[in-house]
Amino acid sequence: MTDTQIFPQLEIPQTIAAGPGPGNTDPRVLQRFAAAGVADHMQPDVLRGMVEAKQMLREVMGTKNVHTYGVAGTGWSGLDVMFNAVMPGDKVVVFNNGTFSGIDGLTVRMKAATAEELAASPLDPKPASVTIIDVPHGTSVSGEMVERALAEHKPKWAAMAHWETGSGRINDIRGFSDACEKHGAMGLVDAVSSLGVEDFKIDDFPGVHGWASCPQKGICCLPLTYAPVSFTDTYIAELKKTGCRSFVHHPILEARHWGIIEGKDVEKGTYHRTHSAYAVAAFHEALRITLQQSVAQRAKDYAFHEAALREAVTAMGCKVTSNMTSLVVLNLPDSLAGREMELVQNCRAEGFGIWPTLSEPVQVRIGILNLLTPAAISDIVTRFGEAMRKLGAEVDMAAVSDGLDKHYKASMAAE
Ligand SMILES: *Cc1c(COP(=O)(O)O)cnc(C)c1O
Repeated sequence: MTDTQIFPQLEIPQTIAAGPGPGNTDPRVLQRFAAAGVADHMQPDVLRGMVEAKQMLREVMGTKNVHTYGVAGTGWSGLDVMFNAVMPGDKVVVFNNGTFSGIDGLTVRMKAATAEELAASPLDPKPASVTIIDVPHGTSVSGEMVERALAEHKPKWAAMAHWETGSGRINDIRGFSDACEKHGAMGLVDAVSSLGVEDFKIDDFPGVHGWASCPQKGICCLPLTYAPVSFTDTYIAELKKTGCRSFVHHPILEARHWGIIEGKDVEKGTYHRTHSAYAVAAFHEALRITLQQSVAQRAKDYAFHEAALREAVTAMGCKVTSNMTSLVVLNLPDSLAGREMELVQNCRAEGFGIWPTLSEPVQVRIGILNLLTPAAISDIVTRFGEAMRKLGAEVDMAAVSDGLDKHYKASMAAE
């Protein structure tokens, strides 16, 4: 007999999730998660909660698409469902300007590859039918880039990240949608970082036929819940013709448990898989919070607090290269260049969870997901300034917090 080790109970400390994601899950969400009774996935209140969540999600996403629901899992789960309509041999153009759109491109290449192309390079296939347009890190994808590529390649599908979290860049979703419409491509968008942070309605972008987001960023609902997705009738009609090679991540079948059957809302969902009452309760509460605060108000709050953080780190000598409102991506002052990882690790060791970039070049990312108060931003600024000083940078913290005070006081006076 071998000894079986039973480890002590797992304790996880309270930290500040000040990275690009996950955001700080709202205490109300965790409370609903823990307070849900033991119930199975067909219990009437669980099913009602899923139908209500579906309806609230349509409001949050700004859509009348019937096929709008949550995919169990993380952002990549929702993206996998969305990209499942891409079949081997399909012509696709993907715009890559950072870590995440890079992985979206890989997902597309895996799905569009023929059996031979996949076997030739199973983990990194290079199908002839997929064109990846590489846009340099730190640069946004512009409408002209999309227009040019779609005019040249005339693909069936075009894919882009709305907000590329790797480099903190906002891509031109209007230009993307317009070019898709003009060239008859069906747009697929990774909206993982923008949903719940930016004020937009997906129905305002008719060139985009598939949208996928995540639970843990703007929706503030990590306790592994649901990745929001939405598909137009055109997308669903195309999928009905081609089929797709997945049961669990089938865009039509996965919708059934949410009460979406044969293209229509029905009163009660039918079994697709064993959904968790706890996850449903948490997701339901996260959507209630988003609607109570309103997407528009949240978007304003993000822009306001990001400006404060940007100003403060700039005053410390950093150079911000991002334009998203949920995080800043920055270069350290020249005196600390090359020590980004050391700085990030020092911060993380103290429960201050900031991040480096995950692909070249190395930069520092500080996020403010659900940290939308002057106190939270001041805390981040203070901790970051301290960390820079510990590495020997000269930071005038008094001047920095003065600037922060001014930002907040001026806005309060204006109100
Ligand atoms: C975070 C992120 C993902 C991946 O989401 P997970 O929840 O980690 O699966 C994909 N795309 C973008 C743009 C992201 O920011």
